[in-house]
Amino acid sequence: MTKCSVCKRNKAFYVRVHSGEKLCRKCFLSSVENKIRVTIGKHRMFDINDRIAVAVSGGKDSVSLLHVLSKIEADFPQSTLQAITVDEGIKGYRDEAVKNAEENCSQLGVKHLTVSFKELFGYTLDEIVKKTCNEKMTPCSYCGVLRRRALNVAAKQVEAYKIATAHTLDDEIQTFLLNIVHGDPSRIARSNPVFSSKHSRLVPRVKPFCEITERESALYAFTIRIPFQEMPCPYAGEALRNDIRNTLNRLEEKHPSMKYTIYRSMEKVQHAFEATAEETILKECRECGEPTTTNLCRTCQILQKLA
Ligand code: SF4
Ligand code: ZN
Repeated sequence: MTKCSVCKRNKAFYVRVHSGEKLCRKCFLSSVENKIRVTIGKHRMFDINDRIAVAVSGGKDSVSLLHVLSKIEADFPQSTLQAITVDEGIKGYRDEAVKNAEENCSQLGVKHLTVSFKELFGYTLDEIVKKTCNEKMTPCSYCGVLRRRALNVAAKQVEAYKIATAHTLDDEIQTFLLNIVHGDPSRIARSNPVFSSKHSRLVPRVKPFCEITERESALYAFTIRIPFQEMPCPYAGEALRNDIRNTLNRLEEKHPSMKYTIYRSMEKVQHAFEATAEETILKECRECGEPTTTNLCRTCQILQKLA
């Protein structure tokens, strides 16, 4: 039996290839939780009396995040934790995910609010896809804009001071490389682990999982045996992101710790951009009054187009 290299007692069930550690279940869970505590501290993500809204889609990453944060939050009695879920209206997919989110919240005793595209914008994502099927824009481009708005609306409804999302290290470096291949490096500065605008109508966002790999986030969910949705979204077909994901996974297999190296490079590039970036001036959207860089926000642009 190979023993855990941390406790030297229990049987190891996982080898963290890039560090060579062999971990038992208990030490694996503690190492993930400790890393998240360190990330939260390093980026000063929360205050002692914070009101945190966790974005829970019902997938493995978001339910793992909910469980870890509810554990951490128990040490801070002045803070509160609430889950928010956006139901985009994707038949045969989101319904099950929402159920998983609800189950996890009731297991943890965390309050849960679900908002839907249909009630906020008048259309489900399925209806939007049907209406726009002849266009170049992918379902994810509509979904991304509307979901960001929906999360902000939900967070304000529960009077949260912060939104915590479950973006993993894999998500972060994929987005970093996507911005480069799209020729849009200025966006790199905008994907920090903490995004906080001076505008009071935008609830600040934090990413406590930004240094946890997708693999370890999934393993965390499997290890604590929490219900989550395994089926991928039927519209998840952004070809370029998938290509980048596959390339990164292949690289990591051949050169363990490559993902961390890219992440560290990304941090340096972000710092360099931050130092030179000019502050974005936000105006109010002429339709909905929400903050935007143009006269009409992206959400209203989409809604006008659909109408
Ligand atoms: Fe929305 Fe695309 Fe994610 Fe599906 S994969 S939930 S369409 S962003
Ligand atoms: Zn608007």
